Amino acid sequence: MTTTTLTDEERRPFRAQLFLEQLEAAGLSPADLVSLQVAGALPDRVSSADFLAKVRVAAPPGSAHVYGTYWDLLTEGLTHLCGCFCEECLGVFGRFDPDGEPLSCPCGTEGCCGCAKRHFFHPDVASCAVRYEGIGDKTLAAVTRLDIETAQRWAQTRAQKRWATRNNQRAARGRAQFDHTGKSAVEHVRRAASFVFTRALEDPSTGVRANVALQAPEPARPTSASRAYTEVQLAELWDAIFTTGGDDPELDMLIVWFHLETRARRGGAIRLSIGDLDLGQRYAKLVEKNDKVDWQPMSAELQRSLIGHAVESGDVVAWTAPGLDPRAITVDDVVAGRARLRPDQPVFYYRPSKEQRADGTVVLVPHPLTRRRYNTLWDRICRHLPWADQMHARPHDLCKLGGEFVERACGYAIAKAWLRHRDRDRDTTLLYTKARPEEVARAFELLGGRNHPLAEGALRTPGQK
Ligand SMILES: [Zn+2]
Ligand SMILES: [Zn+2]
Ligand SMILES: [Zn+2]
Repeated sequence: MTTTTLTDEERRPFRAQLFLEQLEAAGLSPADLVSLQVAGALPDRVSSADFLAKVRVAAPPGSAHVYGTYWDLLTEGLTHLCGCFCEECLGVFGRFDPDGEPLSCPCGTEGCCGCAKRHFFHPDVASCAVRYEGIGDKTLAAVTRLDIETAQRWAQTRAQKRWATRNNQRAARGRAQFDHTGKSAVEHVRRAASFVFTRALEDPSTGVRANVALQAPEPARPTSASRAYTEVQLAELWDAIFTTGGDDPELDMLIVWFHLETRARRGGAIRLSIGDLDLGQRYAKLVEKNDKVDWQPMSAELQRSLIGHAVESGDVVAWTAPGLDPRAITVDDVVAGRARLRPDQPVFYYRPSKEQRADGTVVLVPHPLTRRRYNTLWDRICRHLPWADQMHARPHDLCKLGGEFVERACGYAIAKAWLRHRDRDRDTTLLYTKARPEEVARAFELLGGRNHPLAEGALRTPGQK
């Protein structure tokens, strides 16, 4: 078969014919088009900002949560942000004036920029006067691949400036620097815009005929062999719990601590009841997937914090000795028999809500933890920690972290026991090297740096304390 290549000029009649056929099918003539346009009777195309407002209302909360900041960027731009990484321009990043408006670098406001070219990350932005205005005013149909790429570039600049600012603060404290490319922001813009275009394609009023976001570059994901966090990353994650605006950082801290210590699955925390905490022997009974039951060592500190949390946020106190405040029960009171807790009540709770009874008294209503908390917590962590985002961090990573440590420090057999992996692979070595409970308790001590009573009898290698 031979193919002939037509010139543009030769194609014109074919295009015209196709167009006329489409017009005819739509019940219009070329003259109709002209008269409608002259009379100003053609409907306005919907602007990106207007359509995005509709998308926001209809989007599932999860998507709105993840894409929200990128939709803001697309509609409103980043007019306070310059593309310069010099000390002065970084100095205003993330700061606000007394009216709550984001601070802009001095060169931007004065309209003259003396910043050196080498401070600009993107070669086509070489002055602080160049700002990103967004695509809010454009009709969605007029948005091109280039517009999406521009948004990506600015989102990347913002992410990198955030990291450069953090690195400056870390450097001042003598802490390790992060090498960050801002590529997750590039990916987020693409996905956030694609979400909008997918919906626009279903709405004829937008005139959108292609998802241009999908034509924009998709950065390659880094390959991550190990899912365990580094020590620095864990410190970052720990920081993020307290600094990223969660409504109950104490609960989030307890969740992360609990999973780090016990390598429990989510279900293990949600199903954990007061009766599952063995306060004397310092173990926790974990009931997880397929109703598998395990006992795992736990520190006195964590048990103490969990009991304190449950007493404060739940309804767990069954009885107290006279003179003891039921809302201030400690592990010691329980162990000494000065208080009894209800074994059937959960351990983890959201903040209790206040409800007024018919007789006017106000009672606190407990709300046990649900899986949702994990989603919002890890969503937040991923939004604030790009490395977590890039490795698709999830709660289960905390188990890998402990598992890796125990395997390196104590060997395979003990790691297998600590991780509570079953012997289903007929691992014959384990018949000879099976870990004893006191060895697992010792591994637990090494991992968390906290004592466990059972570890006393464990074998120690020379030099171990
Ligand atoms: Zn500058
Ligand atoms: Zn400048
Ligand atoms: Zn600047």
